[in-house]
Amino acid sequence: MSMNERLSYLFGNVALSRMRNFIGRDTLFAFDLDGTLAPITPQPCAIGIPDSIRQEFIILNEQAVVAVITGRSRSDALHHLGISPRYLIGNHGAEGLPGWKERENEFFNIASQWQSQLDEIFPMNTRDGITIENKGTTLSIHYRHVCNIKYTHKIILEAINKLDPQPRRIGGQFIENLIPENAPDKGIALRILMDKSGCHKSLFVGDDETDEDVFRLNDANIFTVRVGINVFSDALFYLKGQNEIMQLIGEINNELRKIQ
Ligand SMILES: [Mg+2]
Repeated sequence: MSMNERLSYLFGNVALSRMRNFIGRDTLFAFDLDGTLAPITPQPCAIGIPDSIRQEFIILNEQAVVAVITGRSRSDALHHLGISPRYLIGNHGAEGLPGWKERENEFFNIASQWQSQLDEIFPMNTRDGITIENKGTTLSIHYRHVCNIKYTHKIILEAINKLDPQPRRIGGQFIENLIPENAPDKGIALRILMDKSGCHKSLFVGDDETDEDVFRLNDANIFTVRVGINVFSDALFYLKGQNEIMQLIGEINNELRKIQ
């Protein structure tokens, strides 16, 4: 991983006018959910979109093609969003893509095979704080509440190594995400949505390791924004924090009004 020297603050003068010039009628606006549209909370089930952001998001959703691409399942994400964007893609790209229903059934079968294998490795009465969340087409193993984090992480990784078929693994804060090898990631998902919607350009905002799959597409037609600075990110622009999201969507809405 190398340092990203192009990364600049989105609300600097030059960057902001680049964004204004980039936005057109043929731009798809895509967002991650946790840590992007919604602030992170200690309990993931408690996330919610602040009203100020929701209002701007509703306006955007009425005047442009909008997508939410999240690690959550679609039904869980919809519950927290309360609004249906044109596209709602769940499971890091593995759920809800137009034209992928049959492949999704394969992913679903693979995830349930992993679930039974993990149920054997970690019988219910020995879990001690490990939670296995079956999200349909992917699995997440949570270990935030265990006593010995380091040891537990080690035995979880050993268990993942035994799974058949082997998953694509994306680690996060006290979580391991298991994704079927051939499932689309967020980058592939965004490209498919651009294709299906006829949008030639896209503006994407995210904050996670899985969002890097979009950032590293490094495509002049994709304007990438990371929530929170990370010099190792491949995004082009960053926001200082999730609290700047409302201003970002507000700027987009203003620009869209001008070009209508
Ligand atoms: Mg996120």
